[in-house]
Amino acid sequence: MSAERPTVRLSRHELARLSHEERERLLLRSEADLSDFIAGVQPIIADVKARGDEALADYGRRFDRAADLDPRRLAATEEEFDAAERRLDPELKDAMRLAAANIRRFHERQMPHGMWLEEMGPGQLAGERTLPIPSVACYVPRGKGAFPSVALMTAIPAAVAGVPEIVVLTPPTESGGIDDATLFACRLAGVTRAYRCGGAQAVAAVAYGTRTVPRCSKIVGPGSSWVVAAMHVLSNVIDVGPPAGPSESIVLADETADPRRTALDLLNEAEHGPDSSAYLVTNDPRLADRVELAVEHLWTHMSPQRVEFSRAVLTGTRGGIVIAPDIDEACRFVNDYAPEHLMVESKDPWPYLAKLTHAGEILLGEHSAISIANFVLGPNHVLPTGGWARTRSPLSVFDFTKRQTIACLSAEGLEPLRAPTRVFARYEGFDAHANAVSRLRDGGNSAD
Ligand code: NAD
Repeated sequence: MSAERPTVRLSRHELARLSHEERERLLLRSEADLSDFIAGVQPIIADVKARGDEALADYGRRFDRAADLDPRRLAATEEEFDAAERRLDPELKDAMRLAAANIRRFHERQMPHGMWLEEMGPGQLAGERTLPIPSVACYVPRGKGAFPSVALMTAIPAAVAGVPEIVVLTPPTESGGIDDATLFACRLAGVTRAYRCGGAQAVAAVAYGTRTVPRCSKIVGPGSSWVVAAMHVLSNVIDVGPPAGPSESIVLADETADPRRTALDLLNEAEHGPDSSAYLVTNDPRLADRVELAVEHLWTHMSPQRVEFSRAVLTGTRGGIVIAPDIDEACRFVNDYAPEHLMVESKDPWPYLAKLTHAGEILLGEHSAISIANFVLGPNHVLPTGGWARTRSPLSVFDFTKRQTIACLSAEGLEPLRAPTRVFARYEGFDAHANAVSRLRDGGNSAD
């Protein structure tokens, strides 16, 4: 590391000097334009619909370079689950057990229980009950690396919600297998059905069903733009969960932040891939300089591939450093961006909570590393991307449940609601609606 000047300069944007259009461009993500991917997935979807398992095997060979993929062996066998568990490093298994316990605990706390009924008036009961959805497919990506943590983060909340049929979909390995840790994660979540298929073809498989892969009511999980595009195309065939595309983060740091810790967190989401987004937003240009130097130093402790990915993000058009004229302007930018992950680096982070409204998750303070929340703390790491954090929430038990309204009226309860119901019915032109409240005297034909 050079003492004063980094050799690689991160992209730098001074909010006070940007035009409206330049500021808007900073808010864009790689998933903003899916049109090429949508065009690319259409024939894949049609092929899976027509040829089912054969098409899944063909695409696995082509896109995942999976040798010898047998269309009759797409489902993981009991022996594969056992062998994966045996092969796995005990230390990783312990870490996964800790994560699974915390994820279960967090989502059990979130789970709404039972049924509630409110007495709206004498003899007028109205309320709701919560039920699990019938089936769900959890997509576990495996393009740039394995994501057993995604299997835990999707399947455990589904299990806590009581979904009776949970399946996991993940691209095959080059030997035609399934990642060991993903299979172990399935076991920890209580999932027994895992299928070696990924990308758009996997989304199509659960949308239509194949001989091997069951048709599911819903699909959740993050994925590459191919997966996101397929979910988009098939959203009228299968319920798709919250949008979770390429990872993105903002590290908001004030003048009290530690440059090295800030750099550690800035690199966290930037290393996912060149399609990710990662910004440091700060009101302190001197901190920005020091973070830039720290990033360069930290690159010497990362693999060439992760350096390449994070360098592409932080020196490109969807990452780097944003200098705000003051901290309120910094918070305004963060809210406009609505990041998936938001890290607040400050010695006094809690007051920022009142200013920060749009983010999938907010991690407060210099020890609350994004990676800890991503893996083991318990909150869900499948978070809305692409600016959807403005209106959408992290993946939760609510994505695996639905609510039903329950109501029951007695004769006493019906009486005072008859006249106002009839008034509405007449205004909206519904005769049967008006007649329906005449049930007390003669079964409903007269308009008493
Ligand atoms: P992936 O499984 O989503 O994508 C790989 C699949 O894409 C392949 O199996 C293949 O079927 C398909 N594909 C690849 N090239 C293709 C082509 N030319 N045409 C058609 N299909 C093609 O795995 P990934 O690539 O590692 O992507 C995972 C994504 O998920 C990353 O962007 C990562 O940032 C994101 N992620 C997000 C979260 C979150 O919570 N938002 C969490 C983890 C990962």
